[in-house]
Amino acid sequence: MLDHLIVGAGLFGAVFAAEAKKAGKKVLVLERRDHIAGNVYTEEVEGINVHRYGAHIFHTSNDRVWEYVNRHAVFNRFTNSPLARYGEELFNLPFNMNTFHTLWGVVTPKEAKEKIESQIEEAKASGIREPQNLEEQALLLGGRDIYEKLIKGYTEKQWGRKASDLPAFIIRRLPFRFTYDNNYFNDRYQGIPVGGYTRMVESILDGVDVKTGVDYLKEKDSLEYAAKTVIFTGMIDEYFGRSLGPLEYRSLRFEEEILDVPDFQGNAVVNYTEYEIPYTRIIEHRHFEPENERASREKTVVTKEYPLEWNGNREPYYAVNDEKNNALYKKYEELAKKEENVIFGGRLGQYRYFDMDDTIDEALKLADRIL
Ligand code: UDP
Repeated sequence: MLDHLIVGAGLFGAVFAAEAKKAGKKVLVLERRDHIAGNVYTEEVEGINVHRYGAHIFHTSNDRVWEYVNRHAVFNRFTNSPLARYGEELFNLPFNMNTFHTLWGVVTPKEAKEKIESQIEEAKASGIREPQNLEEQALLLGGRDIYEKLIKGYTEKQWGRKASDLPAFIIRRLPFRFTYDNNYFNDRYQGIPVGGYTRMVESILDGVDVKTGVDYLKEKDSLEYAAKTVIFTGMIDEYFGRSLGPLEYRSLRFEEEILDVPDFQGNAVVNYTEYEIPYTRIIEHRHFEPENERASREKTVVTKEYPLEWNGNREPYYAVNDEKNNALYKKYEELAKKEENVIFGGRLGQYRYFDMDDTIDEALKLADRIL
């Protein structure tokens, strides 16, 4: 009998499994896909480490998590500085003095603040006080110009819902800054694991038994997988057979191309913020690891990211944390509490927008608690 059966070889499952193994427990990781590393999976194409499930840029202010990942990979000094393209215009992200200069020609922080303040006042004058949704939150944070050119179209295609129907917290991830600093994240540490994320997760899972291509929910009753505790990192509603109804998820479709040019866009991430362009961003993988000498000098790999609703066949990427889904999740959480010896973890198990560092932190905390 296993001590812990871990379902899912993504970051949550891998980190917990490794900790349990270190604590002397008998563990097994089961993964439905044919590879480990969940959605941080990378694969080499033309010598370039391709982020197969979208851009993953590691950033954290959590010392424990940063030390943890640095034990399993060397991190380069990549700093995410995405560009936003709206028609023929090109803006720096996150919203900072470079963005404000391009938008309005303002040069000093004082001028930029005055411009934004006057637009926020307009939003308040239209009756918005406590933001009830993403649209109101965006208007109160940066005013109408930024909202209409850089937020509305991108957000509505990413989530497939009107900005006025989405929760405000999504946009609070995006910093506003009155310096000429294009670093997307405010965190103390940032970088990409040299050699790709798959190699990092392989290092985390070193010595841990892992079986890929096994769907636990289909094999649940098999004696081989009997365990004192199951750590389930898949979709919580799927675990319960969607008995209370399905939770909604956003999915993504990736269109990957190998181009016969050494450099396609000169940057790792370019967001397309117009609603009419069906993809949200193009990522060019070579720029995540500019120091990589294996990378082809003649070719480059780019991926267009198309958001779509999850339909049961695709991979789920994001929980849709609107009121309706959160209320349904709460009910599944109640069921989960009654489910003896099963713990739900990770983005899908906890139906939450965890970043990579949050996910690792949660797994380490679970290990602290139960091992
Ligand atoms: N966002 C936006 N315009 C952009 C980039 C982001 O409006 O150019 C908003 C959008 O609502 C998105 C949220 O900010 O859902 C978070 O974006 P981010 O790219 O940080 O999220 P990720 O998909 O990478 O987790």
